[in-house]
Amino acid sequence: MLFDAHTHLNFGEFTPEYRAQLAGEIEASDLSYIIDSGDSVESSRQAVEDSARYPWCYAAVGLHPDQAPGYTDEMLDEIEQLAGEPKVQAIGEIGMDLHYGRDSKEKQIELFRKEIRMANRLRLPIQIHTRDADRLTMDILIEEGAFSDERKGWFPEKVLEDGRKVADPRVQLHCFSGSAEFAMEYVRLGAMISVGGPVTFKNGRKTVEVVQTVPLDHLLSETDAPYLTPVPYRGRENKPYYVEHVVRRVALLKGLEYEAAARRLTENGKTFFNIDD
Ligand SMILES: [Zn+2]
Repeated sequence: MLFDAHTHLNFGEFTPEYRAQLAGEIEASDLSYIIDSGDSVESSRQAVEDSARYPWCYAAVGLHPDQAPGYTDEMLDEIEQLAGEPKVQAIGEIGMDLHYGRDSKEKQIELFRKEIRMANRLRLPIQIHTRDADRLTMDILIEEGAFSDERKGWFPEKVLEDGRKVADPRVQLHCFSGSAEFAMEYVRLGAMISVGGPVTFKNGRKTVEVVQTVPLDHLLSETDAPYLTPVPYRGRENKPYYVEHVVRRVALLKGLEYEAAARRLTENGKTFFNIDD
């Protein structure tokens, strides 16, 4: 039982044949669920199509910050329409990227705010991409009510490992790359920290510290495939079922059996994305 909480089966360069082959490989693996995340109108449409085709596939729809320079309100309308389709469980990936998009900062902020408001309007979980914009991303999320009590009230309470129940605003920091301290600031706001391939990298010390520090109740497993391939497949194309190697590393760092970590991270994913089958 494994959960890939952020992946791109919808990837634009995949042919329909290759996508079907990948789906077959997923079905032959231990992977139980994927969240197929859009980053443009086209990829979001593909994610919705994938989720209609495969029972284990759920979709997130949204415009990535790299879409900010040319985005239009019509594009946002289309995303909102797609968000109403069955099996669309989140708005994402949305956020800020000042590594590649420094010139479009203002446009990114404008788009990001509109997409958080959309997620609030639709009462959907939010999937965040953030790069070189740690504090700014958090400030915008707070300002737009992503961690508000009102938002927390829209979702069922989360049951922690020790049986306690807590309110959960359903905000996922996809492929979290900040410090352990910063991760804990997000945890105190109620967010989920999502980790992928970098936790297996030799130079992944920061992500290792994040996993060691953040309680298991606040962790999600992901791949971001076809990017960020985990060891031992680094250098090749990433695939959703390679999430096994992320989970194995999380288990090791948390001092858990692999099966226990896999079960808990799958439960976390199902709770976060409101999947109850
Ligand atoms: Zn991604």
